[in-house]
Amino acid sequence: MVIKKLKLKYDTKSDSVNILAPAKINLFLHVTGKRPDGYHDLFSLMCCVSLYDSVTLNFDVANISVVCSHPQVPGDETNLAWRAAHLFLRQLQIDAGVEIILDKKIPVAAGLGGGSSDAAAVLLGLNHYHKNPFSEDELSALGLTLGADVPFFIFRKPAIAEGVGEKLKQFQQIKPLPVLLVYPQIYVSTASVYDNLNLGLTKCKQRLKKLFFDNEHSFDMIECLCNDLETVTMHRHSEVRKAQKALIHHGASGALMSGSGPTVFGLFTDNVKADHVKKELLKNSSWQVFHVAMLV
Ligand code: ATP
Repeated sequence: MVIKKLKLKYDTKSDSVNILAPAKINLFLHVTGKRPDGYHDLFSLMCCVSLYDSVTLNFDVANISVVCSHPQVPGDETNLAWRAAHLFLRQLQIDAGVEIILDKKIPVAAGLGGGSSDAAAVLLGLNHYHKNPFSEDELSALGLTLGADVPFFIFRKPAIAEGVGEKLKQFQQIKPLPVLLVYPQIYVSTASVYDNLNLGLTKCKQRLKKLFFDNEHSFDMIECLCNDLETVTMHRHSEVRKAQKALIHHGASGALMSGSGPTVFGLFTDNVKADHVKKELLKNSSWQVFHVAMLV
């Protein structure tokens, strides 16, 4: 496994830029309420992990286009990366094009934020190429119009996210552990998970009150693992619970669904153990398993 620190790595040739777009996990995700506009307010601890899409931007072209061979990813104006480029160039009021080549490694619609990360990478790459016309805050505000997770992928540090995800505060108390991501290869619609959430039945508030708010200085990552969306997704898709149970059964210190799922991550005390468990879990041929590092 290659463990890379997440510094922005621009591989800049004359007329192209290549950026790594990482996946994220939610170490806790508490849904605090529903807003009049239909969006939900969150209180979530987010961290990037070392599973990356590769985003290459070629600038010697007249129009915006996306090249991506992944069957679930649109190649047209609905792609978040395309929309990010369009937004950026419109905001800058320049008549330029960009070819966006996406090499997808992050599973799609998996709760790992792949589309949002690609969009943030496009914003960061364009900003870099155009010699930083926008501040990080301005880029985040642009990104927020594309998706609630985009500002986090511009921030790129472990963070507590509030609001719909746009209010970010760096969180430095994470001691990184080896992670296995288990993607059960089933389709989960984020919108329908939120639609079916009963805010009266969520569990994280109590747990976080006891273990986080009243104890912020002795943060215990394993104890705080909690996701209010888990019950909705697991109720509908038994495979997600099965993946979580398998991780715990094989010795993960903790296991939780990320975002609205279906990916479940397990935290391990050492890489050798995580590698061994990965081999065990891959015996289930319908799961994809990735051994990654938390990027802190
Ligand atoms: P969310 O919770 O925001 O839906 P996710 O991490 O679960 O995010 P994504 O991988 O971002 O899921 O994909 C969500 C949807 O967005 C998919 O249905 C996909 O077709 C669409 N999409 C648009 N652009 C992209 C992109 N660049 N990469 C992946 N999916 C994209």
